[in-house]
Amino acid sequence: MNDLQKEFLDIVADVRAHLEYQRALGVKSIELPSPGVQKPIVQPAVSLSLPEEKTVVAPAAPPVVKEAVKSPATVQSGKPATLESIREEIGDCTRCKLHKGRTNIVFGEGDPQAAIVFVGEGPGFEEDQQGRPFVGAAGQLLTDIIEKGMKIKRAEVYICNIVKCRPPNNRNPEPDEVEACIGFVKKQIQAIKPKVIVTLGNVPTQNLLGTKQGITKMRGTWQEYEGIPVMPTFHPSYLLRSPGEKGKVWEDIKKVMGRLGIAVPAKESGKEGHRSC
Ligand code: URA
Repeated sequence: MNDLQKEFLDIVADVRAHLEYQRALGVKSIELPSPGVQKPIVQPAVSLSLPEEKTVVAPAAPPVVKEAVKSPATVQSGKPATLESIREEIGDCTRCKLHKGRTNIVFGEGDPQAAIVFVGEGPGFEEDQQGRPFVGAAGQLLTDIIEKGMKIKRAEVYICNIVKCRPPNNRNPEPDEVEACIGFVKKQIQAIKPKVIVTLGNVPTQNLLGTKQGITKMRGTWQEYEGIPVMPTFHPSYLLRSPGEKGKVWEDIKKVMGRLGIAVPAKESGKEGHRSC
């Protein structure tokens, strides 16, 4: 098989994974432009580029709102919270000591109607600088798991953390910090209503599920949060230190794909994973 044929097959696999993900989201049909109104083709007949990425995601930081005067967006209006209203409710947060060292609040980003929400523990240096979750080295690995492993776009899932501000020196968030912040990730999950949550490492697994069990025991086993299936798996930072554990994460991710009806590439479906992610 030559390179062009391989590239074509990759595109077919990507389109198929995308359509399966859309089906998991409940999309039943996709309208195509009628042949009668098709514009003359001025592009090459076969485009090798992938469909455009969905934009957006992280709602822009709202203007500073003093906590004492802010309104709890959701309850007062009686409307369900949206990601925007949750971001507004966070405001220029000083609810815990982490605010003192932060550059940016890292709210989360992705598709507000994602079928999958990935929950990490808290922003690191790069995330704090950019105000976006999982954009450092661990983030690149998570992106590879999503895009190269699951064959879906990062913008099609939702990614957030238990705490929204960077703990100093990337230490684990302390219980008072988790307590101050965890309500927001719970509201984000409530607003998105994903079909599956993937918790990355001990912090999100233990705090969302209310367990003291360690990730080594929990990973790969289906759990439940408010009726939503949860798949705990290792944190990508751990994989950077222990790359030999990547296969276990791929096993966990294949379970998620199976649950969502996303096809696992045939050559990968039966064996212990050794993917580029
Ligand atoms: N680790 C996390 O848990 N979250 C991030 O956003 C980045 C690294």
